[in-house]
Amino acid sequence: MKFTVVGSGAMGLRYGVLLQEAGNQVDFVDTWEPHVEKMREQGGVYVSRDHQDRELVPVNVYYPEEYKGDPDCYIFFTKQMQLADVLKRCHAFFKPTQYAFTCMNGMGHVEKLLNYFAPEKLIAGTALVATVLNGPGDVDFIGARGAGTMNLANYTEKPDDFTHKLVTELEKAQFNPTLTTNFKGTLMAKVVFNSVVNTLCTMFEMTMGEYAAYKGADDMSRQLINEAYDVCERAGVKMINTRQEELDSVNYVSKVANPLHYPSMYQDMHNYRPTEVDFINGYLVKLGKENDYAARTHAFLTHEVHLAELQKQKE
Ligand code: NAD
Repeated sequence: MKFTVVGSGAMGLRYGVLLQEAGNQVDFVDTWEPHVEKMREQGGVYVSRDHQDRELVPVNVYYPEEYKGDPDCYIFFTKQMQLADVLKRCHAFFKPTQYAFTCMNGMGHVEKLLNYFAPEKLIAGTALVATVLNGPGDVDFIGARGAGTMNLANYTEKPDDFTHKLVTELEKAQFNPTLTTNFKGTLMAKVVFNSVVNTLCTMFEMTMGEYAAYKGADDMSRQLINEAYDVCERAGVKMINTRQEELDSVNYVSKVANPLHYPSMYQDMHNYRPTEVDFINGYLVKLGKENDYAARTHAFLTHEVHLAELQKQKE
């Protein structure tokens, strides 16, 4: 299969490199100049797996304006706030036959992708896996040996032949995919997960394991999960997990799967970049408002993360 990754940072590289190693033809498109230039200069990207075995993996990398490929499927992995601009820079090479697949965090990307791709060509999901871009041209796949899992669903909730082929390629590349037929419920499960762990670990600059070890963590997680589920119920979203399963997932990932990991919003804050909080807790607030419900704790947390971003700028 032919893939083109659009947004070749931490996760774009992980999906692209592992699909390439599983026998697919993969191109990479990116807009961050120091990163593209570095990969060209060194003849690829340096990939570590669980901080070890750092090796140079050759990749074909392009700026949007010079790209001429014709993939079966694009894989989008920008940050939420970058996507609209990146799509504008790329749309000249999109074709109606091509699929768009993404596992970006938060919500906001679906409507933007639907401006360029037909509903039956859109497949989105969530990735429970951790990847760190150490700097331009240098990435670390955490849990590299098949440790993560992911869910995906068609926007139409009707998997076609292409979707099943995509799942097979993701299996071969060890992403452990589960195909669902509940689009919004699948995406919202990760929004809720991130609204707890990603946000709190970012604000208090702690690992997921450190958060989960706090004796009040279950109370805090439960309050945020309950409020998020109240929003989703009012919005008519059928969740794929019960509230208890969502709490169990927060605890499992934080205590067992990735206790040493700093979530992706923390990494943004650490690198003086804006976080995706408006598309995570902020999205729950917006969805609540649209359904006459005030998600007060999520609104408060959204403000707190923005305050933390402001403080960070002073350093
Ligand atoms: P990333 O920041 O590594 O890359 C996204 C884009 O930002 C790329 O185009 C990259 O080149 C560019 N970029 C990276 N550093 C930059 C800098 N300092 N200045 C300017 N541009 C820069 O993002 P990611 O971690 O790959 O995340 C992509 C999406 O996947 C997000 O929605 C994220 O929440 C989600 N996600 C991330 C992880 C993870 O562990 N990293 C896990 C699951 C989901």
